[in-house]
Amino acid sequence: MTVFDFTGRVAVVTGGAQSIGLLVAQNLVKKGARIIVGDINIAGAAECERINKESNALVAVFQLCDVSDMGSLKSLIDLAITTFGRLDILVNNAGILDRPWEFDATGDAAHRCIMTNVCSVIGGTNHALHYWNEKEERQGVVVNMASLAAYMPLNFMATYAATKAAIAMYTKCMASVAPKVRVNAVAPGGVDTKFVTDSEFLGRDHWAVKASGLIPPQIIADQVMRAIEDDSLAGDIIVVKNNEEPVLCTLPKS
Ligand code: NAD
Repeated sequence: MTVFDFTGRVAVVTGGAQSIGLLVAQNLVKKGARIIVGDINIAGAAECERINKESNALVAVFQLCDVSDMGSLKSLIDLAITTFGRLDILVNNAGILDRPWEFDATGDAAHRCIMTNVCSVIGGTNHALHYWNEKEERQGVVVNMASLAAYMPLNFMATYAATKAAIAMYTKCMASVAPKVRVNAVAPGGVDTKFVTDSEFLGRDHWAVKASGLIPPQIIADQVMRAIEDDSLAGDIIVVKNNEEPVLCTLPKS
């Protein structure tokens, strides 16, 4: 396994204002990368300022970005090139839960969930691939955030589970998309973040959360780093369950 030298590398992390995305952003900076963080949550600006202060250098730039808006997403990725001159890593982390069907008569919430969780990943990856394809070295890595929900029917989060199943299959299909461009995913079970704890439909008392417990978010951030660093992984999905060793998803490769 070759470990990437992140010094001089530039990463874009979506949904990096808090929780898993913020930990990934911090991990990347600790290993020498410079980062662009995109989020609808303005708290990301203060987090980037804090990272810059700690590093005593401009290593983290925040941009308000709604990944469900393709223009906003593309300008986030372009910011890596205009600010730091290159793009090496794209972490498609931003994601939202759907509202259960009983509360979504119009399907608007489902539409937003699909745009945020799926179209952003495909649109952002395509945009990055165009950039890498123009470069002779064509070196890049994309990590998508899937979910264990992709593999197990959970009727209270049907749309969400469907979006994450789409991401899992998309990642597999992109196994060898271009020379030296790798696309991987991480598929966690329940993680101890606001995503679960502040959710109006989940929360710590939900039976599914009680049944499986919650994974510390740093474990997921570490697996994202593994998906970036381990160049034997391409089109691979690292499935992480609470209190179990992470395993690679066994869907057949094409
Ligand atoms: P979180 O809700 O704590 O953080 C998600 C971040 O994404 C937030 O900062 C939020 O503002 C941002 N975001 C949401 N919509 C956005 C948009 N349209 N544009 C830009 N940013 C947006 O969640 P988390 O637990 O850190 O989850 C991160 C990823 O991990 C998500 O894709 C989620 O589906 C996935 N995941 C989470 C869990 C879990 O149990 N927490 C389990 C499996 C997968």
